[in-house]
Amino acid sequence: MKALIIGSGGREHALAWKLLQSPRMTEVVCIPGNGGTALLAGCRNLPLSISDFEGIARFSLVNNMAFVVIGPEQPLADGITDYLQAQNIKVFGPTQAGAQIEASKSWAKALMQAAGVPTAASQTFTELSAAIAYLEQQGAPIVVKADGLAAGKGVTVAPTLAAAKTAVSESLAGRFGASGNRVVIETYLTGQEVSVLAVTDGLTIRPLIPAQDHKTIGEGDTGANTGGMGAYAPTPVVDEALLTRIQTEILQPILQALQQKEITYCGVLYAGLIITPQGDPKVIEFNCRFGDPETQVVLPLLATPLEEIMLACIEQRLAELPPFEWKPEAAACVVMAAAGYPEAYPKGMAIHGLEAAAETGAVVFHAGTKRVQQQVQANGGRVLGVTATGETFEAAIAHAYKAVDCIEFEQSYCRRDIGYRVKA
Ligand code: ATP
Repeated sequence: MKALIIGSGGREHALAWKLLQSPRMTEVVCIPGNGGTALLAGCRNLPLSISDFEGIARFSLVNNMAFVVIGPEQPLADGITDYLQAQNIKVFGPTQAGAQIEASKSWAKALMQAAGVPTAASQTFTELSAAIAYLEQQGAPIVVKADGLAAGKGVTVAPTLAAAKTAVSESLAGRFGASGNRVVIETYLTGQEVSVLAVTDGLTIRPLIPAQDHKTIGEGDTGANTGGMGAYAPTPVVDEALLTRIQTEILQPILQALQQKEITYCGVLYAGLIITPQGDPKVIEFNCRFGDPETQVVLPLLATPLEEIMLACIEQRLAELPPFEWKPEAAACVVMAAAGYPEAYPKGMAIHGLEAAAETGAVVFHAGTKRVQQQVQANGGRVLGVTATGETFEAAIAHAYKAVDCIEFEQSYCRRDIGYRVKA
């Protein structure tokens, strides 16, 4: 069986790696992939653009791909699933209508309201004067969000009213293009953030193991927000009882609300949650795809073959699958970045020590790399996600750093405190 993965990050490398562990999978093709997927046995890259829906469809049909997995949100928001489905290609990933849950924060908020799902109180604005009046009435701290996709930069957690007003006026003035023409202003919540990735076929929804990531660049969770500097799973913040509440209070009602809109949602529904100091889960955001780097710690612990889960979602028989099986271990992922990230950073540095890192038993997922002849070079802000599993978090984290220390490239940077909250 052959599968096609769309995307080029650590998430897509992890998806390809996991799919290829199943004896049923004969080949995985990545469009466009990265240096890691180029090196992975059984996998190859195809240099097409992820926005070339026609090329992707043609390749899938001619090469008999059993199914296509869409990694990033942009093609989902642009309707790649609708396009491929119209040609009878099986797709793991929601349609454009379903992807609105990530592509429009005001749409997601309205859906949550309709479903009675707990989330921060909010209002949506397109007019500056009305937004400013609301801010003045609410006070700070407060959170300002560009409505549409903004590559992780559209959210301002404003400690002061002045910062909030600047965020609103910059967004409405076009800082994020059309994505910021509408802003959602919401109450500031406190608590620990967790990520619950769930899979659904539109009829049934099942959570995967909960994970936590480190969003900021600096140790101690300080500094600028990034795509994620590390992650670990399963987080002890979410125990069985809390996961049951997340399922019944959040995931199932949202699925029902989607059904009421006649949206058959197939793929991953990712709930970014805050667990309040009272222990209640509240939704910060939904994403319509696998999280990065959470996927790099969730998939290594999954014992059920991934293609079975994906095909069950695509063929609407998720309810028939036995409970997913998980390895009784902990996983940790340390992201190695290029110095300067999340601002400007250098590219093209040769990466050494990948084999030595792999010999430790860790898995090195490539995030921003490319293969140039026999060399692997840095080609992005987040370069590698070094992942290890162990009997305890302490063991998994120590193992991941042991592998990190085998790898060298000029101007590399990683946080040294990944998983500090769960280390014994
Ligand atoms: P973008 O839309 O720009 O891609 P995003 O989808 O990653 O960004 P969110 O996940 O909604 O944006 O928010 C980013 C971060 O901001 C969250 O991970 C959280 O740390 C913080 N945040 C968002 N909403 C709130 C809130 N209501 N209270 C406190 N912190 C929040």
